[in-house]
Amino acid sequence: MSRFIDRRQFITELSLSAVALGLAPRIARATRRGDIKLAGQPQNVVVLGGGLAGLAAAFELKKAGHNVTVLEARKFPGGRVQTIRDFAAGQYAEAGASVFPQSHVFTYGYATDFGLPLRPAFRAGVDSMANIRGNQFRISSTGPTNIPFQVTSSERAAGVFGLISLYLGSYMNEVGNPRKPNWPPPDLSAIDAVSLKHLLLDLGASDGAIDIIAASQLGLLGFGLDSFSAMEGVVTEAIGSDPIFYEIVDGNDQLASALKRKVKKQFWKSSVVTRIEHNDSGVTVTYTNSGGIQTISADRVVCTLPFPVLKDIEVFPAFPEDKQLAINELKLTPVTRTYLQFRTRVWEQAGLSGYGLSDLPIQNTYSPTLTQLGKPGILTSYTGGQRALDLGVMSESDRQSYVLRKMGNLFSGLDNQYTGGTSQIWHEDPWARGGFTYFEPGQMATLLPIAQRPEGRIHFAGEHTSAWHGWMNGALESGNRAAEEVNNAGSVATLVVGGDQFPKGEMT
Ligand SMILES: Cc1cc2nc3c(=O)[nH]c(=O)nc-3n(C[C@H](O)[C@H](O)[C@H](O)COP(=O)(O)OP(=O)(O)OC[C@H]3O[C@@H](n4cnc5c(N)ncnc54)[C@H](O)[C@@H]3O)c2cc1C
Repeated sequence: MSRFIDRRQFITELSLSAVALGLAPRIARATRRGDIKLAGQPQNVVVLGGGLAGLAAAFELKKAGHNVTVLEARKFPGGRVQTIRDFAAGQYAEAGASVFPQSHVFTYGYATDFGLPLRPAFRAGVDSMANIRGNQFRISSTGPTNIPFQVTSSERAAGVFGLISLYLGSYMNEVGNPRKPNWPPPDLSAIDAVSLKHLLLDLGASDGAIDIIAASQLGLLGFGLDSFSAMEGVVTEAIGSDPIFYEIVDGNDQLASALKRKVKKQFWKSSVVTRIEHNDSGVTVTYTNSGGIQTISADRVVCTLPFPVLKDIEVFPAFPEDKQLAINELKLTPVTRTYLQFRTRVWEQAGLSGYGLSDLPIQNTYSPTLTQLGKPGILTSYTGGQRALDLGVMSESDRQSYVLRKMGNLFSGLDNQYTGGTSQIWHEDPWARGGFTYFEPGQMATLLPIAQRPEGRIHFAGEHTSAWHGWMNGALESGNRAAEEVNNAGSVATLVVGGDQFPKGEMT
């Protein structure tokens, strides 16, 4: 979901102090990637969606010896992993996924397997800015920060970036490995029923501390701290708690392209799935491409379509009631990112990274060019929930001027340097309909297992089916899980239904 600059900065810039180490949770690790050995006969598998989940499933199944076809609505692979390259001086920014830690073994593992160059996604010794409760203040990277409103003495000692560990650290230690059987542990399930805000209040967090946490990146999820489950908040923090995050040099879309190259001509672009029909012996998928309405039949399907998209696709016979409920109820956070290009990086000249946390309508800011060369720079406003909806309805030029004006509450000297910009409004993207999954109170422990569960010959993957939801790792992990399910199911004899097998599609 996020860049988690806050915790990373907290840990690295306090030089891994005893306090930080004491609070750092055990990092959840997924252990198994790829390595599927063909079980039984090769199967014909159609993968719906060519984002990272679909590409990973297709790659692993193909490697094991199965016949795979990916149906993808867009003209390019990667789904929510897209790199925007229309900035000055060859600079770029991520439209979706930006950074990942080494503990995300699927993301880190595939990126290194494919030889993609990585670099740490931060720069040491630069400060951040905050504007909360009408107070603008600087968050030091080298010493304590004076929080200019009332918080408790232990909160003041923990500092802006230590509040989450202060209150959630012991729960984060419980997270462990979500891929293990019998996950989640009872202590985590127990807090699924309440919102994160409710849990923080129960744990004694002051209103000031809650406002700081809400202004940080956790506040991007759903519609704020009272909209999502406390278990969700704890898992999200635990699986993104590494000290160092990485990015792929020159853009994360290279990971999608590398996976797509492995799938080769079995990636069918501009193919929009409209109907799924399934029975005991196979699955037939209807899709449209430039040639009109097409069908393809297969032994099994891996469906990675985000649930808000799948909700509108005809399925016959219908899924069981609880699955349909999960498809209807699971939501993606509305997300708007507004990118502003500047002639020079005035914020860096002031010793600032460009990271800002706020309760302003622009919510968080960060600079995609922090690790890129060149004189010009980009600042991005990153909003989730209601703020994303509010910014999303503006015209591009209104949004640009509004965001530029509001950024003045964090950084000075921007106006004369501004040259233009662009936006990414994820909830308006017809093939995503939101940025990343969030679980409302009560949903994570109940809906996640149902979302993952295969229905007959249809297997489910996608970030929304993974404990690493909101991360590339969740997409890749779920693709591996679904590939394993398909392969294991193949040890039982399968029959192919009638109809055209793998007719000619639009290939890239
Ligand atoms: C703003 C934002 C910030 C993020 N930050 C990070 C980050 O810093 N680090 C990180 O690791 N992750 C981050 N993520 C999360 C990460 O991008 C996602 O978890 C991951 O890319 C999801 O992959 P997926 O395959 O599950 O879904 P998708 O990428 O959405 O793939 C689904 C595919 O299905 C296709 N599709 C949809 N409908 C149809 C149809 N009818 N027919 C055919 N195809 C269809 C779509 O076009 C898409 O390609 C972020 C995401 C966003 C949006």
